Amino acid sequence: EAAPESRSFEADVAKLLHLMVHSIYSDKDVFLRELISNAADACEKLRYEAVTTPALLGDDPQPRITLAIDAEKRLLTVEDNGIGMSRDEMVEALGTIARSGTKAFMDRLEAAQGAEGAQLIGQFGVGFYSAFMVAERVDVISRRAGSDTAAIWSSDGKGAYTVAPIDLDAAPARGTRVVLHLMEDATDYTERFTLERTVKAQSGHVPVPISIIEKPGAEPEQIADGAALWTRPKSEITKDEYTDFYRSVAGQFDEPALTVHYRAEGRQEYSALVFVPETRPFDLFDPDRKGRVKLYVKRVFITDDTEILPRYLRFVRGLVDSADIPLNVSREMIQQSPILAAIKKGVTNRVLGDLEKLAQSDAEAFEKIWETFGAVIKEGLYEDFERRQQLLSLARFKTTGSAGKWRTLKDYVGGLKENQTAIYYIVGDPARLESSPQLEGFRARGIEVLLLSDQVDSFWVTAGIDHEGKPFKSVTQGAADLKLIPLTDAKPEEPAETKETVTAFIDFVKSTLGEDVSDVRASDRLTTSAVCLVAPESGMDRQLERLLAEAGR
Ligand code: ADP
Ligand code: MG
Repeated sequence: EAAPESRSFEADVAKLLHLMVHSIYSDKDVFLRELISNAADACEKLRYEAVTTPALLGDDPQPRITLAIDAEKRLLTVEDNGIGMSRDEMVEALGTIARSGTKAFMDRLEAAQGAEGAQLIGQFGVGFYSAFMVAERVDVISRRAGSDTAAIWSSDGKGAYTVAPIDLDAAPARGTRVVLHLMEDATDYTERFTLERTVKAQSGHVPVPISIIEKPGAEPEQIADGAALWTRPKSEITKDEYTDFYRSVAGQFDEPALTVHYRAEGRQEYSALVFVPETRPFDLFDPDRKGRVKLYVKRVFITDDTEILPRYLRFVRGLVDSADIPLNVSREMIQQSPILAAIKKGVTNRVLGDLEKLAQSDAEAFEKIWETFGAVIKEGLYEDFERRQQLLSLARFKTTGSAGKWRTLKDYVGGLKENQTAIYYIVGDPARLESSPQLEGFRARGIEVLLLSDQVDSFWVTAGIDHEGKPFKSVTQGAADLKLIPLTDAKPEEPAETKETVTAFIDFVKSTLGEDVSDVRASDRLTTSAVCLVAPESGMDRQLERLLAEAGR
């Protein structure tokens, strides 16, 4: 047998541990949620493997999580009878961070204040290390299902850890035991009351029953039943239960802004319970960010790697539980299953449909969602051709006439000027948009212009989209309409310049600027500014041109 071996944490882990221990003072409770969530994940992994290898369950088929208190020794133990870890798996899982976006996360954590840090931990899922916020030493004793060896991992979280084999009778028969040697100021967590309250608040809806052992030798008592909330009828579920469930599945502490819960019957049978969060996850624009809707089959967790919803709905959290997908095929096969394709379509339609309904019934609530996630939803305008018109009707815009309020395209089209042939927009920096000279001619004619200031706006507007027969058109492109639409505050007096002086001036400018410009024209678009740059009628929008130039294309 190998002797105990001492190893250093990967540099990122060491830094993360330092940050967590030294920058998070409030909400240390999250460590419990993270350890319970790992224990539940381990039970679900076992449930999944047991579909093809039932022997792994042995004579202990029911998943369980147990919290055990030893106040005298200042110990709190979180134990599960899940899949467990081999020695090598412990080294891999508890000494490294195999996740993209770690750096961005640590930067945010470093800058985080108060409770925000704890929220970030949940979102990023570096859960295990949060144990060191309350423990001066953590021992992890684990035996993988089906294995006849066990190992112990141990660390004080200060840069190094040890791993060693351990006797089978000192380890759980299957699964993982995490022993926290609590810090002096963390003895609260040896109080049953504190643990029960924390579990109810954070982990009440974990799909594995949770019990507590109050003191050495006491019997376990159940404190959460592990019933799957999504299988219960909607009418029996309270708002608080939904919120608790949302928090445990999303790892966020806010309220859901929209809850979509339904059961599909007929051709496909499945339940979906998904939420639109109230706040933006920190990595919303990380290119590696994946959707976070989990896939279950008959209550067995399969994966959270499937893109159940399209990318432009990647902020939605929750799960889908199918009754029809065959369980005893590989994850890859499941991902390609036509049943799953139909479910994806169904859930996407339902989420968009419920957003539409919310927009009708509670405009303010919907606008809040749009404010938070509109920039992401708009990606769908060029990614999801089929639902483009539906997304356009969901979209909200700030405009020159809206005084900071949100307008729909329906509102916009309802206010078209006579002879106006396009939906006009301007793209750019929100602080400067409204004072752009490009808008003068439009303002003077009372033509509403969409003010677009999200990155994504430069892309979808050039996708050749129409709405009610009207194309989208940039105010920086030539606007033939302007000639046909009268000024609303028309000044009757003749301009001081004669046609000849204007032509002479234009010739002068043309010869001075030479090849730097393709044309110089007298303009209908300006009322107070002297000049502005425009793109040719068929040319690329100036803002897009700038973006592409920055991207080095
Ligand atoms: P995450 O859960 O997001 O993967 P964590 O830091 O919480 O990140 O856990 C890291 C990894 O450690 C897990 O992915 C898992 O492989 C392993 N792990 C942690 N706790 C357990 C456990 N109780 N049983 C089995 N594996 C575990
Ligand atoms: Mg975890």
